[in-house]
Amino acid sequence: MKQAVKDIPASQFAQPAADQWVSVEVCSESHQLPTAFCPTRVKMLFRADLVPTQLCQIHKAKEMPVPNVVGSTLAEAKTALEANGFKVTSVKDASSTEPAGTVTDQNPAGGTSLLQGEVVTLVVSARSTQQVTMPLSRGSMSLRRGTCSRISG
Ligand SMILES: [Zn+2]
Repeated sequence: MKQAVKDIPASQFAQPAADQWVSVEVCSESHQLPTAFCPTRVKMLFRADLVPTQLCQIHKAKEMPVPNVVGSTLAEAKTALEANGFKVTSVKDASSTEPAGTVTDQNPAGGTSLLQGEVVTLVVSARSTQQVTMPLSRGSMSLRRGTCSRISG
């Protein structure tokens, strides 16, 4: 057996020996693997067979109430949601009658309990006087073309 592996350096073996020590970044309070919510992380030496495998149980994601952000601007809504640990994604609503940039709907709704790190989807008004990028403009373009051809023909 020894002859078969003698040319491979010891460091290339995937599994370190039990007496080997490895540096692992862990939560400074729990000494478990850090989550996104651990305030401080430290590098600690662990015996290779005792490396922590469990995520921090002190700073794990908590259920938080989703703030109601309908009616605020996208920037305000993002700040409020991210302060509670949520991720934010937004979709544009071109048919909205609200001023552009106003949050018109949210999913999940305000007051719902949600695990931190989960995504809250905001519907944001994209009302605009320039309808160049809107799918609707294609319709009005062809309509105009139609009108033109009728006039010229
Ligand atoms: Zn922690």
